[in-house]
Amino acid sequence: MDDKLMLMIPGPTPVPEQALRALAKHPIGHRSKEFEAVIAEVTENLKWLHQTQSDVLMLTASGTGAMEAGIINFLSPGDRVIVASNGKFGERWAFVAKAYNLTVDPITAEWGQALDPEQFRQKLEADTNKEIKAVIVTHSETSTGVVNDLETINRHVKAHGEALIIVDAVTSLGAMNVPFDAWGLDVVASGSQKGFMIPPGLGFVAVSAKAWSAYKTAKLPKFYLDLGKYKKATDKNSSPFTPPINLIFALQTTLRMMKQEGLENIFKRHERQMKATRAAATAMGLKLYAPDHAAARSITAVVTSDAEQIRSIVKKRFDIVMAGGQDHLKGEIFRIGHLGFVSDRDILTAIAALEAALQE
Ligand code: PLP
Repeated sequence: MDDKLMLMIPGPTPVPEQALRALAKHPIGHRSKEFEAVIAEVTENLKWLHQTQSDVLMLTASGTGAMEAGIINFLSPGDRVIVASNGKFGERWAFVAKAYNLTVDPITAEWGQALDPEQFRQKLEADTNKEIKAVIVTHSETSTGVVNDLETINRHVKAHGEALIIVDAVTSLGAMNVPFDAWGLDVVASGSQKGFMIPPGLGFVAVSAKAWSAYKTAKLPKFYLDLGKYKKATDKNSSPFTPPINLIFALQTTLRMMKQEGLENIFKRHERQMKATRAAATAMGLKLYAPDHAAARSITAVVTSDAEQIRSIVKKRFDIVMAGGQDHLKGEIFRIGHLGFVSDRDILTAIAALEAALQE
């Protein structure tokens, strides 16, 4: 890839120089004492990022691998699960659940709209026989730039008492508050090329004590993604299979940077950049796809029939890459990523480039 390119997409996100240098180091043996120390530090800091004392496990997989692990370790064939969808990644949850013969009970909202927590309450309250084993939801829907009200949805799941809450936090973790323990979440999946500020290749799954109890009786087939193996190894600062050593070096570096910045500051930065991007787009007469109350912190989707032309001008003239729309939104929207290693100056640059592109 051209060094000059500035990535303003919702992943892969830009990678800081320190992390690039870590990627360029000579690998070390993954069964060495030195690497055990790296895993110990990274695991501790992953727990800090997830705001949890529970387990956070690292898989050599993209975010989708973490999602799949999040389903197959805790459920059995035929289990009834609520799968929420208001965009491409919600749909992906349903594909995974169906691939494993789960009984999918959908809750949907139009693309561009947030899920209605009330629908969860009604379905869960009606389930007096406690047949619903899990509620599966995307927190930040990257395809539309909409954030779902996970806190309220989760409150309804907690009131049900039985069902696990399984969350795709791929573009919310490290961008906004997803307090695993304080909210009592059960399974949270994410991926390295997002708020973690490193290249793709690692998936993360946080697992609660309640989810581990479900693991004991879960009967879906698994081998590589068997999280029991990862827990056993992680407890000894090890990994069940050969991990991507250099990616983990890079993660060690970025987690240190994140700790230095502090969670609150990270969340504030993403919120500030989201607001700046939305205000600028509106001032330029552009229409935003997500409503203000459900605007994702990590991505802003703009509606315009010139989406592809604008992206092409911004790339050609300014070496800035913005994302297009996915599926039926291709050509209808473009998306500006403000996730991870993005400075306020980057946002100003992207906004100025957008303004110039609109004048062509
Ligand atoms: N979920 C969300 C919300 C995403 O944004 C993405 C990727 O963009 C994924 C899941 C899938 O992650 P991956 O492409 O790393 O498998």
